[in-house]
Amino acid sequence: MTPLMHAAYKGKADMCRLLLQHGADVNCNQHEYGYTALMFAGLSGKTDITSMMLDAGAEIDLVNSVGRTAAQMAAFVGQHDCVTVINNFFSRARLEYYTRPQGVDTEPMLPPRLAGPLHKIIMTTNLNPVKIVLLVKEEPALVDPWALQKCSRVMELLCEQCVQQQDMNEVLAMKMHYLGCVLNKCLSFLQNREDKLDSLLRSLLRGRDSDGFPQYQEKFIRDCIRKFPYCETNLLQELVRSIAPVEIGNDPTAFAVLSQALTGQMAFVEGDYCVTCGEKGADKRCSLCKAVVYCSLACQKLHWFTHKKMCGSMQDQDAKAQDTPKLKELKAEEKVAAAGGCPLELLSRPSTSSEGPPRPRD
Ligand SMILES: [Zn+2]
Ligand SMILES: [Zn+2]
Repeated sequence: MTPLMHAAYKGKADMCRLLLQHGADVNCNQHEYGYTALMFAGLSGKTDITSMMLDAGAEIDLVNSVGRTAAQMAAFVGQHDCVTVINNFFSRARLEYYTRPQGVDTEPMLPPRLAGPLHKIIMTTNLNPVKIVLLVKEEPALVDPWALQKCSRVMELLCEQCVQQQDMNEVLAMKMHYLGCVLNKCLSFLQNREDKLDSLLRSLLRGRDSDGFPQYQEKFIRDCIRKFPYCETNLLQELVRSIAPVEIGNDPTAFAVLSQALTGQMAFVEGDYCVTCGEKGADKRCSLCKAVVYCSLACQKLHWFTHKKMCGSMQDQDAKAQDTPKLKELKAEEKVAAAGGCPLELLSRPSTSSEGPPRPRD
C-alpha cells in the first residue's frame, strides 16, 4: 500500500490532502490486489476523503484483482454514502468545457462565473426539489432568469452527452435532466410570481388538506420523469413501472423511487430524513407532535405554514399544546426506535464470508 492508500483507509483527511498536494498518484494500483486509493476511501466510509480522491482525478472505472470498482467495493461493505458520492461524481473539468466558446460561437454556453454554483448543484446527492431550490437560493448568481436559462440549457446538453457517450450513463443523464427541470421551475417562478422562489418552496411543501401529503411536489417529480427525452432507456422504463401504478399519496413516492435509482440510497427510513429538505441525519423534531423531524430550525420554519394544520392531529392526546413548537434534540435511542429498532446500515451490510473479494490488509 502507498502512504495515500493507508491514509485513505484509516480516514486521515489531512494526511490525504498533504500527500495529494505533494504529488501522490491517486490512480496508483500497484497494491497486491489491485486496489486504488479511491477503493480504500470507499471502504473507510469517509465521504469527504472519497470526494477528495475524485477531485484529485481518481478514475471511477478501475477494477481490482476480483474485477470490482471502488463503488462496488464500498457497497460490499455497506458504505452506501460513499457509493452515492462515487456514483454522483461529475468532474468540474467536464462542466468547464461549456465555459469556453466552441466552434463558431463567440460567447460560451455557460458564463464562467456560473460554473462553480452549477457544479455544486450537479454534485448534490440529495435530490429533494426543496433542497435544490434552497441551493439555488443561496447562490445570488443563480437567482436570475438569464443565468437559470443558461444553466438549464447546459443541463440539457449534458443529459444528451451522457446518453450519447460511448458507454451510455443513463443514471447521470436522468440526474442532469431532473436537475434541469428543477432549474426551469425556478426560472418560471422567478419570472411569473411575486415572491418568486419562496413561493416555489411553499408550493413544493404544501400538504393537501386530507392528510398533509405534498401533492404538488409528487406531481412535479412525476412530470420531470415523464419528460425525460429518451423513452427507450431501461432506467426510464423501470421508473415508470415503479411509479405509475402508485396512487398519489401512497408509498413509494416518486422522490423515493427516483432517489434510489439515481443515488443508490437504500429505502428511506422514517425519522432520519428532514421532512422539509430531505437531508439525511435529521436529529431535531417538532416538540408538539414529536412526529416530524428536521435538520435545522430553518427547515422547521419553512414547513410550519403547512405542518401547523396537521400538527394538532398528530399530537399525543395528553401532550400539552404550546404556542410555538420548539425543536428537540432526538436522543440516540429514540432514533433507533424510529428506525424500527433496526438501523439500516446493519441490515444492508453483508456478513463477512470467506467468498467475496479479499479484504484490504493493513
Ligand atoms: Zn432540512
Ligand atoms: Zn408538529
